[in-house]
Amino acid sequence: MKNIMFIAPPAAGKGTQAELVVEKYGIPHISTGDILRDISKEDSEIGKYVFETLTNGELVKDEITYQLIEDRLGKEDCKNGFIIDGFPRNIAQAHEYDKILKNLGYEVGNVIFINVDKKVLEKRITGRRICEDCKTIFNINDPKSSPKVESVCDNCGGKLYQRSDDNLEAFETRYNMYVEKTEPIIDYYRKQNVLTEIDGDDTVENIFARIEEIIAD
Ligand code: AMP
Repeated sequence: MKNIMFIAPPAAGKGTQAELVVEKYGIPHISTGDILRDISKEDSEIGKYVFETLTNGELVKDEITYQLIEDRLGKEDCKNGFIIDGFPRNIAQAHEYDKILKNLGYEVGNVIFINVDKKVLEKRITGRRICEDCKTIFNINDPKSSPKVESVCDNCGGKLYQRSDDNLEAFETRYNMYVEKTEPIIDYYRKQNVLTEIDGDDTVENIFARIEEIIAD
């Protein structure tokens, strides 16, 4: 199957949709945010740098991000397709991604842009909770996706945590960065005829149904 890329503003639901894609199609989900969050827990200089950068809502240095993407996409499990989210985040990264794909003999595949209004995102951001173990995403501000027991994962019983950058201040930085740096890549992929836009202000099920249609196309 074709590779998939998600582009979306912060808290648009791309992590949740990526989990559903993984479950149905069995391809790996490569999220630079998830990989960097794991690195941020390491007790090392790079771990501390990544933790501070993530907490402030800023972008991690390109040399770190490029290396981790190259290493991850080079693994065997990416050969039958993968879903990438959080990368590329600006035009320079999109150009670097073209090079990485070329070196590995891969195509960009389906680029899916999940569009959600800023007001909706602000509401979502403070309620997001994530399972430490299986990484399932809940939202305590939305009865349809809140966990049955507070702070406990419905799926595996793991502990739920709030991302250090899920506060309104860091959101503002991340959102402005998204508008300034990430939105231009939407046009970059639109011009290549590989991009499909979907409305992300809908139920998880409806959005996933649209994604399935795009994948099947
Ligand atoms: P995300 O989970 O995609 O919202 O990413 C969380 C944070 O990880 C971002 O706010 C950045 O600090 C960092 N990050 C994720 N992807 C990238 C990237 N492609 N380049 C630089 N920093 C990134």
